[in-house]
Amino acid sequence: TGGPDYRPLDEAGLRPYLAGLPAIRDALGGDPAGWHVTEVGDGNLNLVFIVRGSAGGLVVKQALPYVRLVGDSWPLPLDRAWFEWHALSEQARHVPHLLPKLHHFDPAMALMVMEWLTPHIILRKGMIAGTRYPRLAGHMAEFLAQTLFKTSDLHAPAAEKKAKMAPFCGNTALCKITEDLVFTDPYRIAKLNRWTTPQLDGLAAQFRADAAAKVAAQELKWAFLTRAEALVHGDLHTGSIMVTETDSRAIDPEFAFYGPMGFDIGALLANFFLAYFAQGGHATPADDRSDYRSWLLVQVEAIWSGFEKRFLELWRAEARGDAFEAGLFADADGALALDAHRKATMARLFRDTVGFAGAKMVRRILGLAHVADLETIADPDRRAACETQALRLARAFLVERDRFTGPADLRHAAETIY
Ligand code: ADP
Ligand code: MG
Ligand code: MG
Ligand code: MG
Repeated sequence: TGGPDYRPLDEAGLRPYLAGLPAIRDALGGDPAGWHVTEVGDGNLNLVFIVRGSAGGLVVKQALPYVRLVGDSWPLPLDRAWFEWHALSEQARHVPHLLPKLHHFDPAMALMVMEWLTPHIILRKGMIAGTRYPRLAGHMAEFLAQTLFKTSDLHAPAAEKKAKMAPFCGNTALCKITEDLVFTDPYRIAKLNRWTTPQLDGLAAQFRADAAAKVAAQELKWAFLTRAEALVHGDLHTGSIMVTETDSRAIDPEFAFYGPMGFDIGALLANFFLAYFAQGGHATPADDRSDYRSWLLVQVEAIWSGFEKRFLELWRAEARGDAFEAGLFADADGALALDAHRKATMARLFRDTVGFAGAKMVRRILGLAHVADLETIADPDRRAACETQALRLARAFLVERDRFTGPADLRHAAETIY
């Protein structure tokens, strides 16, 4: 519920609060009484304000002591603002151009001030509208490769990595949300589950009785619980990316912790597949969306391929961590064996990615939090048809992930799902 210095701000409270921060006051400019404040939070958890003055605008994000989507019956610790700020700060060491600029953090108020991304829009909205973003895949490949490699034991010395990881082990409340909502609840009767009913009742029951899918989901959960490979964003869906035609920024890493790399890559790709299956619900007589569907699958390939290439480049050139001591692989045999292992590691990471993608797709259709791509399809029969295809692909991703050896396999599977 917050310490003595915490109070949730409204539009009236925000003005004097920001006026008391000299650098922020200057950046906004003019008389605080004339600042224009709007609350724009459309997320599940927090308050987000845009504040505009005569010199410019800024965004203020403040955590609430409960889950906004559900209400004050579901308390949630305010220190998630601390995790979000520190994840952004760490990511900013590696990819500052792919994030909002950071201006101010107040831990007692669970509040941060950052760059107002404008005219950016949320990627998910652009994808529902059928807009193409030519630089997006390259940006996301770079974001994933840099943030995951540079925070891993391949790049950071063990003592440094562990020191940075220690505080993130405290992000247990948000990790627990993922553990329950992604890996467990969709596979059992849970109060917060919902789906398009009655159309998907049978499929939902099938998932609850699907022992192979449940083992796969719980195996992924175990990886999520134990494998501290890198600082992961933790919530890298298409609602956490803001874009223009030429620029991409990742926002909202409050779920960040040291976890399996494939979780972030899988989250992102899952949302491209959900968008892909949703297109059928957005088709019009003028545009059947088939070109856009192919564009989405091309992006999946480009994100994975770009990520793999960049990650391998970084691993070959900047392996300063304690994993794979360079001195052991100085001779020709050693160098060859190490590089073969690097490629095998990428293959393992791809399988993780596919599994996590499957889990993320299932939770968005059978669990608590759904995606606008599908929710905006007004006709429930049409929506259920899209969701059924997505669930079938997701089940294959979960249970048969060893069968997918590269992104072309994913594309083929999506195109041939019945
Ligand atoms: P939550 O954690 O509640 O999901 P988000 O950080 O995702 O909050 O922000 C919610 C919404 O606020 C975003 O979908 C976006 O529309 C808007 N938003 C957040 N940060 C910015 C920003 N830096 N610039 C512009 N809009 C933003
Ligand atoms: Mg969000
Ligand atoms: Mg959200
Ligand atoms: Mg969030």
